[in-house]
Amino acid sequence: RAKADGRGTYRFFETGMDARAQARRLLEMDLRAALQRNEFEVHYQPIRDVATNRVVAFEALLRWSHPQRGLIAPINFIPLAEETGLIIQLGEFVLRSACADAATWPDDIDVAVNLSPVQFKSPNLIASVTAALEEAGLEARRLELEITESVLLQNGEATLTTLHELRAMGVGISLDDFGTGYSSLSYLRSFPFDKIKIDRSFVSELATRADSMAIIRAVTGLGRSLGIVTTAEGVENDAQLELLRREGCTQAQGYLFSKPRPACDVALMLEGPRLRALA
Ligand code: C2E
Ligand code: MG
Ligand code: MG
Ligand code: MG
Repeated sequence: RAKADGRGTYRFFETGMDARAQARRLLEMDLRAALQRNEFEVHYQPIRDVATNRVVAFEALLRWSHPQRGLIAPINFIPLAEETGLIIQLGEFVLRSACADAATWPDDIDVAVNLSPVQFKSPNLIASVTAALEEAGLEARRLELEITESVLLQNGEATLTTLHELRAMGVGISLDDFGTGYSSLSYLRSFPFDKIKIDRSFVSELATRADSMAIIRAVTGLGRSLGIVTTAEGVENDAQLELLRREGCTQAQGYLFSKPRPACDVALMLEGPRLRALA
């Protein structure tokens, strides 16, 4: 136990740690209970083809519908779910829900599911993806799994083997949040990704920063040369969409088209070419 200089500092430090640890314990208990009480929901955000403006996929995004706190975004509970291992159960819930929901959609529409690095450490990943597809009766080609560079950073060889197995099943593999991590280009060589998702931070500054524009141009060019679909994340206005179209970006996703919404709203999101009222 570390000694602090002054008594006051020491107490303050201890109290601070205590409060944080306690908040963490409470959240963990709350998370476990929430799983039992089925408080988690999967919402969907449309992804459109830039050239045709058609919806080609929906991304599944997890929400916690808390009885007191309302809808809670994943940033507020996924880190702890990863630390405690609860992400395994949560991830299976998302996979099963997403496959079951997608099975009710037109069969030219894919569903994209985010995978945590922790799920790649579990030996059950292939089995749970297989089970989710089979239970839902969904063709593997309609499932896209989104991973970030951090997945490849840890346990590289084992992860690559798993990715190749998933790919052999017919599942698509996307590299999410591209441009935000380290040495992104080497990852493109380590695995033949089907899709690169360009991080929202580049898209949001597209019209105002020449360097963001140059990066988008480089990544879409890279995608074209490598035969990889490029998807721009966080497209919020027409000016951004127009620039992306000009650069030949394949797909766009963002509030311009719709915020993520519950599964019951998918038909509505498929209807119009652009439903601003839903944003
Ligand atoms: P992500 O996979 O990069 O998902 C895109 C995030 O950007 C979503 O945030 C989405 O709501 C948000 N977004 C989409 N369009 C716009 C836009 O035009 N403007 C702005 N400002 N934001 C936009 P969300 O749903 O809060 O999810 C955040 C992150 O949490 C996701 O980032 C993903 O990394 C993680 N996540 C979400 N669901 C799951 C899940 O089921 N499993 C795992 N492991 N992670 C998940
Ligand atoms: Mg994603
Ligand atoms: Mg596919
Ligand atoms: Mg992303």
